[in-house]
Amino acid sequence: MQNSRHYIGLTDKQVLQNRERYGENVLTPQKREPLWKLFLEKFEDPIIKILLIAAFLSLGISFVHMEFAETIGIFFAILLATGVAFWFERDANKKFDVLNKVKDDTLYKIVRNENISEIAKKNIVVGDVLILETGEEVPADGKLLEAVSLQIDESCLTGEPIIDKTTNPDSFNKDATYPSNWVMRGTKIMDGHCIVEVLKVGDETEFGKVAEKSTEMSGEETPLNKQLDKLAKLIGFVGLLLAVLTFIVLLVKDLFLGEIHYPMNAIGLLAVVIIAVTVASAKVWVPIIYDYFEIMGRDKKLPNSIKKGSWFTWLLYGAGSFISLSVIAYIFGVNPLERASWISMETAAHLLQYFMVSVTLIVVAVPEGLPMSVTLSLALSMRRMLQKNNLVRKMHACETMGAATVICTDKTGTLTKNQMQVHKANFWCIKDEQLDEDVNSDIIRESISVNSTAYLDFSNPNKIKTLGNPTEAALLLWLHKQGDNYLKIREQSDIIEQLTFSPERKFMASLVESSLLRRKVLYVKGAPEIILSKCGSILTTDGLKPIEGYLPVIEESLLGFQKQAMRTLGFAYEIVDDTKDRFENGKIVNSNLIFVGFTAIADPLREDVSLAVQKCLDAGIEVKIVTGDTPGTAKEIGKQIGIWKITDKPESIITGSDFAELSDQEAVQRVQQLKLMCRARPTDKQRLVQLLQRNGEIVAVTGDGTNDAPALNHAHVGLSMGSGTSVAKEASDITLLDDSFNSITTAVMWGRSLYQNIQRFILFQLTINVVALVIVFLGSIFGYELPLTVTQMLWVNLIMDTFAAVALASLPPNPDVMENKPRKNEDFIITPKMSSNILFVSFSFIIILLSLLFIFDRNGVITAYDLTRFFTIFVLLQFWNMFNAKAFGTGKSAFYGLHKTVGFLIALVTILLGQFLIVQFGGEVFRTVPLTLRDWTIIFVSTSLVLWIGELVRLIKRIY
Ligand code: ATP
Repeated sequence: MQNSRHYIGLTDKQVLQNRERYGENVLTPQKREPLWKLFLEKFEDPIIKILLIAAFLSLGISFVHMEFAETIGIFFAILLATGVAFWFERDANKKFDVLNKVKDDTLYKIVRNENISEIAKKNIVVGDVLILETGEEVPADGKLLEAVSLQIDESCLTGEPIIDKTTNPDSFNKDATYPSNWVMRGTKIMDGHCIVEVLKVGDETEFGKVAEKSTEMSGEETPLNKQLDKLAKLIGFVGLLLAVLTFIVLLVKDLFLGEIHYPMNAIGLLAVVIIAVTVASAKVWVPIIYDYFEIMGRDKKLPNSIKKGSWFTWLLYGAGSFISLSVIAYIFGVNPLERASWISMETAAHLLQYFMVSVTLIVVAVPEGLPMSVTLSLALSMRRMLQKNNLVRKMHACETMGAATVICTDKTGTLTKNQMQVHKANFWCIKDEQLDEDVNSDIIRESISVNSTAYLDFSNPNKIKTLGNPTEAALLLWLHKQGDNYLKIREQSDIIEQLTFSPERKFMASLVESSLLRRKVLYVKGAPEIILSKCGSILTTDGLKPIEGYLPVIEESLLGFQKQAMRTLGFAYEIVDDTKDRFENGKIVNSNLIFVGFTAIADPLREDVSLAVQKCLDAGIEVKIVTGDTPGTAKEIGKQIGIWKITDKPESIITGSDFAELSDQEAVQRVQQLKLMCRARPTDKQRLVQLLQRNGEIVAVTGDGTNDAPALNHAHVGLSMGSGTSVAKEASDITLLDDSFNSITTAVMWGRSLYQNIQRFILFQLTINVVALVIVFLGSIFGYELPLTVTQMLWVNLIMDTFAAVALASLPPNPDVMENKPRKNEDFIITPKMSSNILFVSFSFIIILLSLLFIFDRNGVITAYDLTRFFTIFVLLQFWNMFNAKAFGTGKSAFYGLHKTVGFLIALVTILLGQFLIVQFGGEVFRTVPLTLRDWTIIFVSTSLVLWIGELVRLIKRIY
C-alpha cells in the first residue's frame, strides 16, 4: 500500500539557494578536440599527403632554380582548399549540437510553491518534488516518495531492462545495484508512476559520472550518402586512370619527343624511380582500385598491409625497391652514383611537375564535395526544419522523408488539437450532468480524481493548464468546473493497486481505499464496449438496475457521439467486500462491475490539417489514419480531413482485432486499400508498417505514446510528437515539436528539396569534372603547354568542391517539389535527364575550350596572356553554368527567387572575386598575367551565353 501525502515543494527562494549550492541539472559537455588537431586530421587524406610530398620535392628543386613562386602557390592552394573545406564541415557539424540542447529543455511535472506545474529539465534543482509517469525519462537522481506499479528500464546504467521500484521496505531488492527506492537520471519509466524527491543533479548523478558524450549524430551514414559514396568511388577511379594516362603521355613526350635525347641508361634509372614512387604511394592508388572492385560487385578486401600499414612502412618499401632495383641496374652496368647516368635537372623538374599535375587530376576528380554537400544540406535542413517545428534526431530522416509514399498518422494531437473537453457527461445516476452531495456523485468524483494520473496546473488561474494524459485531464477540468478539488480527493484516498491506462488494454483500473465511501472500491474507466462487457448492472438515479434493458439506449447514444468525431469513455465501479485479488496479469478478475455512464469528449480538428493532408495527397503520398478510437469516430475524422469519402468501400476500414486475424497474405493485399484502422493497438500499427514496407512503400509513421515505439522504430521515418513520451521521441527520427500534421508536409518538402539540391550539385560538379579532366588530358597530348597548372586546378577544385557545395546545397526549399510524385528509394540519384545534360554541356565546353587552345596556339607556343584568358574563360563557363544548375528541375528561370538565396549569391561573388584576384595578382604563382577591363568584359559577356542559352531552353520548355 502506498501512502499519499500532500506536497508543498520548494519555494522560489529555496530553488535559488539549492541551485547556488548544488548546481544546475546539466551535464558538462566533454572537452572537444582542439581545432588545430581537427584541422591536421584533414591532411590524413592520402591524396593530399602525396600532393604535399610532391610539393616538398618541388620545393627542393626550387632551391636549385631559386624560383619559388609556383611551389609556394601549390602550398597555399592546398592549405586554402583544405582549410575552407574544414571550416564548412565543422560549421555543418556544429549545427547538430542543437539536438543535445533540446534534450535539456524537456518539460517535467514538478511541485513548487504548493502548485503543480511544468519546468525544463535543466531547471530542476536538488530538493524538487517531481511527478513522473510511464514513458518519461528520469531527469535527475532521486528518492521515491510514492510509487505505483513502478517499473524502470535501467539498461543505460546497469544493463537491466526492467527493474521494480517501490517505497515499501519489505519489497526492497538487496542485490540491486541501486536502492529499490531510488530512481536514476537517464533511466526510463516503463510502467506505473511515481513522485520523487531530487537528491542529485547534473554531473553529480550516476549518469553524469558515466556519461559519454550523448547523441553524436554527424557521423551517421545515410542511404543517400552511401549512394554518393559509390558515385565518388567511380569518379575517383576514372580520375586515377586519366591521371596515369596523362602522366604517361607527358612523360613520353618529354623523354622521347623532346629536344634532348636521353640514353637508355637514364631512362632505365627513371623507371626505377617511378616504380619506387609507385610502391611508396600504394596507400593512395590501391584503395581507389579496390573501391572500383567494390562498386563493380567484386567485393575484395583491401589488403591489411595497405589498410593498416603505416605511411612510413610504405616509404621504406619504396626506398627498398629503389635500392634493390638500383643494385640490379648497377649489375647491368648503370652506375646510379654517377651524375651522368641521370636525366637532367631540368627534365626532372618537368617530370615532377607532371607528376603533380597527375596527382592534382586525382584531387580534382575525387568529389570530396559530395559528402560535404550532403552533410551541409542535411545540417541546413535540420536547422531550418527546427524553425518550422521539426526537430530532426537522425540525419537520414531529412532525406528519407522526401521519398515517403505512405504516412500512417494517429489522430489525437496530430490531426486534432489535443485540447480535449468533456462535451457530454452521460451518467445515469445524476441529474442534468450536475454533481450533488450524495454517494452517486462521490463515486463519479472519486472515479475521475483517483483513477487518473493527470494533473492541473493552476499557476495562472485564468488559464488552467493540463498536465499528463489529455483524456484524463479533460475529466479533471470537468470536475473542476463542478466546483470540486480533484487533488484533495486524490490525496485523501489510498491507491492499493493500479492498472494504468495502456493502448493495449484500452482501460484503466484502480483499487482504492476510498475516503469518500469509506470502503474499498474498484474504479474502472475505458473504451465503453470493454467496460460494458464487464458490467452486469447500471447505477441509476433509481438505484441499481440490470444492464440489459439499458444497452440499446447506451449504444445508440454512444454511436451518436462517435459520429460527431468524439472520443467516448465508459465508467464503472465495484464495492470490494472480499479479499479476492482483482488484478491478475494486467487483467481484471473476480469482479462484478456496475456501469455508471460515459463521457463524450470533443477534441477539435486542427484548422490547417485538411489543407496539409490535401498537400500530401497531391504529392502522391497516401495518408492512413491509425487510431485507438472507434470506427464511428475514425470515419468522421477521416471525412473531415478529406481522406474518407462516402463512396469508400468497407475494405478501406478495419479494426485492430480484425486486422490481427488476417493472414499475412490477406493483410498484405488489404493494407494497400486501407484508409482507416480503428481500435488499433500498437502491435497492429507495427504490423501495418511492416506489411506496407513489404509492398515496397516508404513509410512514415507518427506516434506519441511509449507503445508506439516499435512502429516508430520500424518505420522508414518515425515522427514523434513534441508532447509525446520520451520513449516515443527517442524511437523516432523526427520530433514534431508542434504536434502538427502541417510539419509533416514541411518535412516532405524539405526532404525532396534536399535531394534536388544534391542533384543540382552533382550536375554542376560532374560537368566541371569531365571538362577539367578531358581538357588537361587532351591538352597534354596535343599541346606543349599545360592548359591548366596545378595551382589553377586546385582553385577550380575549390570552386566546385566547396563553393558550389555551399551554394547549391543551401538553396531554399522549393514548394513545387510537392507537385511531383514521390521518387523511388532505389532510384539512382543521377537521372537520365541529368546524364544527358552533363554530357551535352561538358561536350560543348570541351569543344569551346579546345578550339580556344587551337586558336591561341602559335607554332606550338601559347602566351601567358592567352593562357590567362583560357583559364578565366574556363572558370567563367562554370560560373554561369552554376545558374543553370540552380534552375535545374524547376523549369523556372535561374533568376527566380535569386534574392532569397544568400549562400548561392555569396558563392558567386566569391568565385568571381577570387578569379579576379588570381588573374590580376596571381602572377607566377598562378601563371597569370593581368587582364584589361576590356578583356574581362568580353569574357564575362561572351561566357554568359551559357546562362542565356539555358534560359532560352527553359523558356521554350515552359511554353510547350
Ligand atoms: P489516437 O490515434 O487518436 O491518438 P490512440 O491510439 O492514442 O488514439 P488510445 O489512447 O489508445 O487512442 O485510446 C483508445 C480508447 O481508449 C479511447 O477511445 C478511450 O475510450 C480509451 N481511453 C483513452 N484514454 C484513456 C484513459 N486515460 N483511461 C481509460 N481509457 C482511455
